[in-house]
Amino acid sequence: MCFLVDRRRTTRSSKPAAGICSRCGACARVADMETTTRFCYVPVYRKTWRAIICTFCGALLKSYNR
Ligand SMILES: [Zn+2]
Repeated sequence: MCFLVDRRRTTRSSKPAAGICSRCGACARVADMETTTRFCYVPVYRKTWRAIICTFCGALLKSYNR
């Protein structure tokens, strides 16, 4: 039996957004994110969402739940 579950977050595309990072002051970007949950290496759940992220430190500044 295999009970390995992992979840990975990937950025599909991003473009410049107004605003700066509150942590490092770098430019923020609005990105289309995708979270894939895998069970035994088989993707079972996929969710796409949009977020404002920092290009420099990778901080998640704002997320939009749809
Ligand atoms: Zn930052």
